[in-house]
Amino acid sequence: MHKTDLKNLTLEGLIQFLAGQGKERYRATQLFKWLYQHDAASFDEMTNLSKALREELAATACISRLEPAAVEVGLDGTRKYLFRLEDGNAVESVLIPDEERNTLCISTQAGCAMQCAFCLTGTFRLTRNLTTAEIVNQILAVKRDVEVRNIVLMGMGEPLHNLDKVIAALQIMINDNGLKLSSRRVTVSTCGLVPELERLGREVTVNLAVSLNATTDELRDRIMPVNRRYPIATLLAALKKFPLPGRRKITIEYVLLGGVNDTPEDAKRLVRLLSDIPCKINLIPFNPHEGADFRPPTRAALDAFHKYLLDRHFTVITRDSRGSDISAACGQLKGALERAGETSPKEELR
Ligand code: SAH
Repeated sequence: MHKTDLKNLTLEGLIQFLAGQGKERYRATQLFKWLYQHDAASFDEMTNLSKALREELAATACISRLEPAAVEVGLDGTRKYLFRLEDGNAVESVLIPDEERNTLCISTQAGCAMQCAFCLTGTFRLTRNLTTAEIVNQILAVKRDVEVRNIVLMGMGEPLHNLDKVIAALQIMINDNGLKLSSRRVTVSTCGLVPELERLGREVTVNLAVSLNATTDELRDRIMPVNRRYPIATLLAALKKFPLPGRRKITIEYVLLGGVNDTPEDAKRLVRLLSDIPCKINLIPFNPHEGADFRPPTRAALDAFHKYLLDRHFTVITRDSRGSDISAACGQLKGALERAGETSPKEELR
């Protein structure tokens, strides 16, 4: 018989599932706590449920789990986790340590369909969406090693292209009986799928980061094909309406590509575009990889760009390349490639 993986269900979904078996609502809360606050691996551990109930559950439901296939630790303490999924696909998560608030960057798809020209994950195309269980299990697996305070959906994949599963995972993350993360500490990062962005805002309250990466449609069309569907003006209009958790600002991510989008004119246009959007700006120097022909900005171009924005009173941070020595920096995740002996899809295409 097909068993239901309980980690695919939100608390509401679990209530319904149990109701179908004639069980009370509070049982769902108990189970949820076992799954997410005690990281239970089996029903046997759930000592406040009767033996009969545990057996009944074990007959119809299961509890999935991810164990890392490999963990690499970078010189700066960044930890890259490789998870092999049941069907042989692999995804990566990256833990970026900080004195008091570790941030975990998780994946939402194996591969990605968005085809941004500078991103390594995109060169592998979309293999498949992750399930809700696979998304939350990345967090549970890393929490067995270290405390996790912040979650960013910035790993492999486009979260809004797997929206149903991502929304359920977010609900599990911020539920008080679930992973119990503050909604101010959970951030979804998107390349800008506008209708999905609007739906996200209606259904769950979390922080939003948007990868803008260009200041003209002409360039953005070229480096981020999603722009041909939702051009910059359409995207910015949607951002203005996006409901954020109390007094938070949208994060605008801007990958600096040397000689492509890092000129003073770009900085000037960026200021104009963002003038009426409550935001902070994350500058990310391009992280080189074998999949793209771009180069990082020069130190001078980066500093000038950063300073221009600061002088116009924007909150700006230039993201250092944490984890770059273990290929764990932004845009360097390649999960599926790490299978021993496998050639890269790029090579296969030749
Ligand atoms: N699909 C989502 C989340 C994954 S990408 C999104 O587009 O936001 C996470 C961030 O990494 C994005 O801001 C993206 O622009 C950036 N990125 C991708 N490749 C990069 C690279 N090679 N160097 C630096 N940043 C990169």
